[in-house]
Amino acid sequence: MPSQLDILQPATLAEAIEMRAAHPEAIALAGGTDLMVELNFDRLRPPAVLDLTRIPELTEWAPEDGRIRVGAGVSYTRIIDELGDRLPGLAIASRTVGSLQIRNRGTVGGNLATASPAGDGLPPLYTSDALVELASPRGTRRLPVAEFVTGPKRTALAPDELIAAFVLPPAAGPQQFAKVGTRNAMVIAVCSVSLALWPDERRVATCIGSAGPMPLPAADADAFIAGVLEEHDAWSTRAPLPDVALERFGELAGQAARPIDDVRGTAAYRRHAVGVMARRTLSWAWSAL
Ligand SMILES: Cc1cc2nc3c(=O)[nH]c(=O)nc-3n(C[C@H](O)[C@H](O)[C@H](O)COP(=O)(O)OP(=O)(O)OC[C@H]3O[C@@H](n4cnc5c(N)ncnc54)[C@H](O)[C@@H]3O)c2cc1C
Repeated sequence: MPSQLDILQPATLAEAIEMRAAHPEAIALAGGTDLMVELNFDRLRPPAVLDLTRIPELTEWAPEDGRIRVGAGVSYTRIIDELGDRLPGLAIASRTVGSLQIRNRGTVGGNLATASPAGDGLPPLYTSDALVELASPRGTRRLPVAEFVTGPKRTALAPDELIAAFVLPPAAGPQQFAKVGTRNAMVIAVCSVSLALWPDERRVATCIGSAGPMPLPAADADAFIAGVLEEHDAWSTRAPLPDVALERFGELAGQAARPIDDVRGTAAYRRHAVGVMARRTLSWAWSAL
């Protein structure tokens, strides 16, 4: 006997929130690029699907008090096409996600909810101190992304909540993202690095992806390079970064990784690659300042 799968199709976010509360057993569906794999491989048998694809509010983005609020259902393709100038780090990461078909369907909201350590959308949100907006019948709350992701594939999302949006500042300086994979496209990251320069705050923000249980900010590397930049008055002079400082920055970023050995790479390789990517992304970003 085939089991029944109910499809719930709210037309507004308010309706979706109501349905979420009334049907806690239903699983949300945005682009379906994670969820359909789970269903196809029979790893998940939900009695109902809450289809979020017809909700206009989730697919909108807009400026908000000097920041940008991006609906959870905005696809990677639209982030690249419509927000590439304002959110370059997230756009570069988005370009590395899957294939055109996956980028057309897949959403950052889905990436956040899945919270895979290899989710490419997450590190750029960390380097921009993004907030994740959650909505439920109890109201709306916003959590820093680093509090939203609580572990590998674990989040602070309550059973009655949906991700409505994420909110982050537009880039104030160059941003970069680099990813190592076993081939050029359609590949889960072996490891990645996202880096953003915030010249107004004289701050470098670096986050490591896919080399730990969750995205990992490289706080010691960032503090080290902030000190070097101050010492050389480099934010004012834009002087080239000394090679020795870049080397040390990479080393400290590598040490911030908490990698494992798995089929995609060894822990030692990941740590090394994180160091190289951290050095490169910093030097690319600095020379674009
Ligand atoms: C061939 C292929 C290649 C891929 N390549 C990459 C890659 O390179 N990098 C990468 O990071 N990922 C990759 N992925 C994984 C996937 O595309 C991403 O994680 C994507 O961001 C998922 O978004 P989605 O909208 O499709 O989510 P869905 O599959 O619709 O949902 C994913 C999860 O999020 C939940 N969810 C979705 N929206 C909400 C919401 N608004 N509120 C609450 N919960 C919600 C769902 O219930 C589900 O648990 C790939 C997948 C495939 C199939």
